Amino acid sequence: MAVSTDDVVRALAAVQLDGRALPETGRLSAILSEGGRVSFSLAIEPSEAARLEPVRQAAEQAVKALPGVTAAFVSLTADRPPAKPAPAAPRQPGAPPRAQAIPGVRHVFAVASGKGGVGKSTLACNLALALKARGLKVGLMDADIYGPSAPRLFGLGGKKPRVISGRILEPLDGYGVQVMSIGFLVEEETAMIWRGPMVISAITQMLREVAWSELDVLVVDMPPGTGDAQLTMAQTVPLAGAVIVSTPQDLALIDARRGIAMFRKVEVPILGVVENMASFSCPNCGHVSHIFGHGGARAEAEKAGVPFLGEVPLDMAIRATSDEGRPVVATDPDGPHARAYLAIADRVWERVTGGAATRAAPRIVIE
Ligand code: ADP
Repeated sequence: MAVSTDDVVRALAAVQLDGRALPETGRLSAILSEGGRVSFSLAIEPSEAARLEPVRQAAEQAVKALPGVTAAFVSLTADRPPAKPAPAAPRQPGAPPRAQAIPGVRHVFAVASGKGGVGKSTLACNLALALKARGLKVGLMDADIYGPSAPRLFGLGGKKPRVISGRILEPLDGYGVQVMSIGFLVEEETAMIWRGPMVISAITQMLREVAWSELDVLVVDMPPGTGDAQLTMAQTVPLAGAVIVSTPQDLALIDARRGIAMFRKVEVPILGVVENMASFSCPNCGHVSHIFGHGGARAEAEKAGVPFLGEVPLDMAIRATSDEGRPVVATDPDGPHARAYLAIADRVWERVTGGAATRAAPRIVIE
């Protein structure tokens, strides 16, 4: 049975906030109702979080009690970040992140780009698989709300995560990587219309209400761009650092520079820059050409004083395997493309762990 937003608003009228019915407080975001799953957020000031938690719970209960509702997700979102603390010394790679840690996850890093279409998601997917191939336990969180591609890249299109208990979801398995994406939860068009606070709340849920199982590392595929949502995310997610992807064109590099500046602003270390679609080897004659120019990302990295992590060629096999949900590192692990991704992953891991060994630390078992 379809649940209308009017039904939800009527149910919420029974929840009081400061002596008024919740829908009259002006704090409700747009309500999303899809297949019995209802989600919305309440706008709050950062200082109100503890006081309004019971209201959030009451709202969730009221909606859950409606006939036809199978799950209700209500979150508190602060449009403005909390007052800025006094400026701290820039954080070095390997230093502990400032945002709250995620249970079950040791390290988190982001793959980001100044603009869309440069191959960020393809890199995030193959880096996750390369780290897995190195013996690490790896997760991938697809935070690219406006264009989630992890379901396609990992061959998990149409699959839904299992609810373990309450609001906690089980990540899906993609070639041994634990994967969570907004693409598993809502139709693509639904997320397209979300405003900033809803995006942040969806990302927070995907980070903290997923049963990540003892991950050495969680790779976050960031939404492209350098707007407010990205800034807030960079502050919310406990990032060890960020990998910036760029193609060699000047325009992409200008965007990459913006990306570097954004992470610096929120004191997230830049792990380095990757040049994607760097060279093209003709499948017929073997001639190598540089369709978009070459070396721009390396030069940009040098200029910005950040490491250059490596380059990935433009190749039909990378495009085709990505689109088929058979990522190249998983399906051709000894091929030249997998080797390029593995080399980059090793450099990233070294930076994430602050130069420690590239293997997972031994797990201590207390008998
Ligand atoms: P973004 O996440 O930056 O929007 P995607 O990873 O979705 O970019 O890549 C955009 C398109 O480019 C996809 O069709 C993908 O298969 C293709 N692509 C990405 N990297 C390469 C590459 N190195 N060679 C060939 N095609 C690539």
